Amino acid sequence: MGARVFPAAAPFTFMALVELRNVSKIYRVGDEEIRALDDITMDIEAGEFISIIGPSGSGKSTLMHILGCLDSPTKGTIQLDGTMIHNASAVHLAAIRNQTIGFVFQFFNLLPKLNVLQNVELPMVYAGVSSRERRDRALASLQMVNLENRSKHRPSQLSGGQQQRAAIARALVNNPRIVFADEPTGNLDSHTGEAILLLFRQLSEQGRTIVLVTHDPEIATVTPRRIEIRDGKISAHPDVRLAGLNRTPAPAAAPNG
Ligand code: ADP
Ligand code: MG
Repeated sequence: MGARVFPAAAPFTFMALVELRNVSKIYRVGDEEIRALDDITMDIEAGEFISIIGPSGSGKSTLMHILGCLDSPTKGTIQLDGTMIHNASAVHLAAIRNQTIGFVFQFFNLLPKLNVLQNVELPMVYAGVSSRERRDRALASLQMVNLENRSKHRPSQLSGGQQQRAAIARALVNNPRIVFADEPTGNLDSHTGEAILLLFRQLSEQGRTIVLVTHDPEIATVTPRRIEIRDGKISAHPDVRLAGLNRTPAPAAAPNG
């Protein structure tokens, strides 16, 4: 019978998960123009663990917001998972953000009046998932970050590292194709920060696509690929220019002594 093997709208299989082409972002503040991003072209492949690194004010958060469809470019295009973002309707865009992308932020952004379980359930409320399924999936997500024993706690009753793990569970709960983390260890002590980085590495080893944004070259050593931005442009030779980046990523978490 006439089953169609190749639907006309199927994305090409060689397409990267995220494709940015000649993206610029210009902010206008009064009479001043701030070129936060200047002609950025880059791809992120499915399954990659990649860091975006650069000093404060270089454009990292702006780039992450555009990669994650929270903001749109002034010039250039972004294609996410086969969809041209500037052609998508507002409703479609909201659905893409909710189902394709997870975000983790420096200050966790948990809602203080909800307990951990309710915070993790929130993205599924927006996605229209039934309450029973929400609970099951939120608990499974909390298990992934080893926090199921704190599900009834309020955020204020948790340590910083636990709050960030709750935020990571929330980012994972809709099983997104890609997770963006903007300075996820920036508000944590170094020991707790390392545990969070280890968690990201484990998630990466399970096949998740993860983009880590950081100003700290030491943190960027956990990812196999790094993109450095300076003054809104991609820097050609990050590994040569940045102190601390001339070593290979540390071996996986096996104890060596
Ligand atoms: P980073 O995350 O690397 O610190 P940002 O992407 O936050 O850098 O900012 C890049 C540049 O754009 C900075 O000069 C910053 O002041 C400016 N900028 C960021 N957001 C805005 C905004 N909403 N309005 C005006 N300027 C902004
Ligand atoms: Mg930033």
